[in-house]
Amino acid sequence: MKEPIRYWGDIPKRFYSDLDQKPFEHCLLCNKELLHKGVHYIIEKAYRSFGSEKAEKTIFEYAICLDCAEEYREQLSEESIKNIDEYMSQIDFATRSYKLLGKDDEEWLKECLIHKSGVGEEGEAQIYGLCDGDNFIYGEFPYMIRLEAMDEIVELLSSETLDELNRFKDRLTSGPPELQDILDKVGPRLLV
Ligand SMILES: [Zn+2]
Repeated sequence: MKEPIRYWGDIPKRFYSDLDQKPFEHCLLCNKELLHKGVHYIIEKAYRSFGSEKAEKTIFEYAICLDCAEEYREQLSEESIKNIDEYMSQIDFATRSYKLLGKDDEEWLKECLIHKSGVGEEGEAQIYGLCDGDNFIYGEFPYMIRLEAMDEIVELLSSETLDELNRFKDRLTSGPPELQDILDKVGPRLLV
């Protein structure tokens, strides 16, 4: 399969932490410092009324280093990994990257990666970006997944995996209390 074209840029403000309007500095799970060259990490933010100038609201946000993301994936059952890989294999990241090459960030986030359409009536969506230190990497990322597609992904997870995710979540005790609330509410949708 063709490889996506990749290029580096500054971290867009859209991917800054809403808490202090600055780039994320630490991994949510291991607290590793992120803004050093060679440290790869994923930023995820979830919004209500995504794209609406007046009503948009961030529901949660975090950055997670790739080591922790890998550890997380190891919690998933074989069946869940197979289902998710199959589901994601329908996406042609290479063609998408050529189509969006050099375009504004909002263009990259306009259509759901999976449903190829804008956000639904609910307007709830999650966005993902990949960084290396203080650089943003365009290629497979960034992308937006609307709630309806997110629900489909959660359905692909086996009950075994959902149990393990809850255990994994219970281990995240070092974060601030707000984060615990979010983890309880969002459950397995976090980190998918
Ligand atoms: Zn980490």
